[in-house]
Amino acid sequence: MLGLEGKVIFVSGGNRGIGAAIVNLLEEMGAKVAYNYRSGKGEKGTGYVANVTDPEEMTQLMAQIEQDLGPIYGVVCNAGITRDALATKLTTSDWNEVVDTNLTGVWNTIQPNLAGMYERKEGSVVLVSSIVGERGNIGQINYAATKGAVIAMAKTLAQEGARYKVRANVVAPGFIETDMTKPIPEPVKEKIYAQIPMRRFGKPEEIAWAVVYMLSPVASSFVTGHVLSVNGGHYM
Ligand code: NDP
Repeated sequence: MLGLEGKVIFVSGGNRGIGAAIVNLLEEMGAKVAYNYRSGKGEKGTGYVANVTDPEEMTQLMAQIEQDLGPIYGVVCNAGITRDALATKLTTSDWNEVVDTNLTGVWNTIQPNLAGMYERKEGSVVLVSSIVGERGNIGQINYAATKGAVIAMAKTLAQEGARYKVRANVVAPGFIETDMTKPIPEPVKEKIYAQIPMRRFGKPEEIAWAVVYMLSPVASSFVTGHVLSVNGGHYM
């Protein structure tokens, strides 16, 4: 019904957390899903090992996926990391690691796919940003910068891709229960819950539905350059 049956969709960082939930839901929708990860650790066992920070590895990966599954229709840039510190304490190496993964990694993931998508005149790109990219966050100047930047990337891609019938959108999760938020101490979590009108963190599946909506050529066919915030009402 969502038009994703048989469509080849790539998800970066699909072995755990939000990425795994996206992969699972897309599989339920009948899509042919491929995903990568760095470490090989995690819930799911059958992905491709490739580092989003390495442009050659990502170019080879996309060629391999097209050989294995067929032309790629959808690309979900989900892989991401945090290296948190106040701006006064942040090291350049932690700045670079986050920018290399969350920003250049997104470029390395979409770049090998654009020409083919434009030629085939179909495709949907979904970039996973964050509430932190929309409103900033103490201790996350590097992460916030990358998550804000991917919103600008999607808005640009939306304008460039429209004539080729390729859409680009953003899903911006609020705080979600994954390995990324596990280290937040309980008292800090309680303070965050108090700021969220729904008084809880979201679940990875609740982000996956938003990504599936943005990928669907049926459900979101006239939506491009949009940021869909999924955050339990956490806007303040
Ligand atoms: P997790 O830490 O649970 O998982 C991160 C995923 O990214 C893993 O699959 C990891 O692979 C992969 N990854 C990280 N670096 C690389 C790399 N260099 N190359 C390939 N894969 C890589 O994160 P979440 O599921 O929580 O987050 C997913 C996305 O959602 C991220 O972009 C994050 O910024 C964003 N987000 C998360 C929020 C949250 O509260 N959890 C809130 C807002 C946004 P591996 O297992 O091999 O390390």
